Amino acid sequence: MSSRTPPPPAPSEEALAQQPASERIRWRLLQAQCRHHANDNISAFVREGELDELKQEVQAKAQELLRALVIDTEGDHNTHGTAERLARMYIDEVFGGRYRPMPTVTEFPNAERLNELMIVGPITVRSACSHHLCPILGRVWVGLLPNEHSNLIGLSKYARICDWIMSRPQIQEEAVMMLANELQSRVRPDGLAIVMEADHFCMHWRGVKDDRSAMVNSVMRGAFLKDANLRREFLSLLSRKTRE
Ligand SMILES: [Zn+2]
Repeated sequence: MSSRTPPPPAPSEEALAQQPASERIRWRLLQAQCRHHANDNISAFVREGELDELKQEVQAKAQELLRALVIDTEGDHNTHGTAERLARMYIDEVFGGRYRPMPTVTEFPNAERLNELMIVGPITVRSACSHHLCPILGRVWVGLLPNEHSNLIGLSKYARICDWIMSRPQIQEEAVMMLANELQSRVRPDGLAIVMEADHFCMHWRGVKDDRSAMVNSVMRGAFLKDANLRREFLSLLSRKTRE
């Protein structure tokens, strides 16, 4: 949310209806003064049927991109359907976490009053960098120290929430923060730790072309910040899991 710029004046309903879906969605976001960076979820502003319209728009623009790259998509059967495939891949798959609402996650009370360290992972990460839209592939581990008031969620739900957040153009440092915020607000544990290790294909495919570069970063909150023993326990269990 930004309060710096006032929302633009409202166009008439007729004028808006003439606009492509991306412009209508953008207008709703601006009206609500809602941030819509590459890694933000905008599903609340997308109306029924508009994702199909978006795909058609993206396809038309991708076709222009191929044309600007001087690729003969008419004569070249390999690239004939590329614009359409790109549009579907971006909207439905690799950036689907921007357009799909949060997966339904049932939370249940911590009836057993579990208060021991829990580790979930490795969870496979499939993302893309915001800078080049190149793949980021990696793994995430989550450490939780629940208390009697925590809400527990099923193990598979960690992977679904993670996938929802990662399926957007991301920056690794922001991705782990987003995941931490989401889990913190749902589970409300005494401590939360997240470690992400990922391979950035923009480092392999282009740029420095370094084949050994993996990026690791972590978020530690609550008890994991205060208690060095807990942090050590988490990291040592994690390195044992990594070797397995
Ligand atoms: Zn990049």
